[in-house]
Amino acid sequence: MEKQKTTLTFYGGVNEIGGNKILLEDKKVRVFFDFGQSFNMGTDFFTGWLNPRQINGLGDYFEFDLLPKIKGIYSEKQLTFTDLPYTKPEIDAVFLSHAHTDHIGHTKFLDEKIPIHCGYGTKIFIKSMEETSSLKLGEHPYKTFRTGDKIEIGHLVVEPVHVDHSIPAAYGFIVHTSEGTIVYTGDLRAHGPRKEMTKEFAEKAYGSEPIAMISEGTRMVEEERRQNYSELEVKKLSNEIVSATKKIVFVTHYGRDTDRFRTFYNVAKNNDRKIVISTKTAHLLSRLVQDKRLHLPDPLKDENILVYYKRKKTGSFLETDYYVWERRFMEKMVNHEFVRKHQSEIVMDLDFYQFTELIDIKPAPDSHFIHSMSEPYSEEDIEDEVMHNWLDHFKIKFQQLHASGHMSRQQLTDLINYIKPKKIFPVHTEHPELFRAVNKNVHLVKPREEYTI
Ligand SMILES: [Zn+2]
Repeated sequence: MEKQKTTLTFYGGVNEIGGNKILLEDKKVRVFFDFGQSFNMGTDFFTGWLNPRQINGLGDYFEFDLLPKIKGIYSEKQLTFTDLPYTKPEIDAVFLSHAHTDHIGHTKFLDEKIPIHCGYGTKIFIKSMEETSSLKLGEHPYKTFRTGDKIEIGHLVVEPVHVDHSIPAAYGFIVHTSEGTIVYTGDLRAHGPRKEMTKEFAEKAYGSEPIAMISEGTRMVEEERRQNYSELEVKKLSNEIVSATKKIVFVTHYGRDTDRFRTFYNVAKNNDRKIVISTKTAHLLSRLVQDKRLHLPDPLKDENILVYYKRKKTGSFLETDYYVWERRFMEKMVNHEFVRKHQSEIVMDLDFYQFTELIDIKPAPDSHFIHSMSEPYSEEDIEDEVMHNWLDHFKIKFQQLHASGHMSRQQLTDLINYIKPKKIFPVHTEHPELFRAVNKNVHLVKPREEYTI
């Protein structure tokens, strides 16, 4: 059915950080921008080990209205046990801004006939994630793009432009509709190692004289309480820690933040230490080296990288103890005994959920742990408490060092003032009302309501 107006409907990412699902309808064309899973979706009904059942597909989600009942978007299999009958796809395409779960997680529910457009690097992230975890997004037809491409969906033209974020291959979009241009920021920052990319996006967005801008607002807050460094500061401060100690230094960061990986890789190298990574990180790096523009080291070839193997099955580090995808890196294998003996020569990636390895590694007292992730939102965070109990038990010193993937309130204000959109639709934020201080024409979006452009 042809629409006479151009509309936006927000099915996720409204008054929350993450879970973006933005439907753009323009005449005959219907396109989604991102189809993410929100972080707090369903937490009123599901918690811990109480999860929606995979076997029931969308059934458990529909029960609590966690996903909208829209026809022509979901896969037939996912709808089997629901009262929403399957119909042929009524969506022309889905565009993904980047590979974070809160932007791509719910594509697993989409009809496999709907093409998914994403960055070349984003597809590598998705494939690596599917190979090394239980998360499967399904057999979608992926079409990859790079900056400079113009993708035509009917009369609609979508221009992806790279931006800097805490994962490579992140994009914003400039969308040319029949009513004028709409700009979607995706997630972005202006203080990262590739801030030039964000600048390029801003320039193109400004040049397109947008009638509307869909803007993220993660750090659009009254007062920022959490500490924030630039990537360069994280590097400098962690280098100070590593260069001043003869003890082992553990670090934890978001696995797919390859800028942070590079930071610790360089810090280790500068201090004549090796970096010890997990098999999962090794797998991801071995895939990402395909994208030459990312300039990442190959874990199989780079002598500064060692791969940590946990005790599994027989406990004798036999090849057959490990998943097939893990076996490729065994020539670079180190285990707890090696790490224990070479503590002064190592910087080790150690995720919170792998802390039991500390029991085997037996770090010397006064070793270091750099927490290079967001600080917990609440002071009663249980995992945070458990983490500190472990560190105290092993007498490990804790250091918080993180650079955010998002713009500060001031940077975002500057960006909007520069781009000068006629209207703003805030998403990916808990404080859309704060955008009013920047621009008079802000729509405080309500979920699942249609807005005419
Ligand atoms: Zn993100």
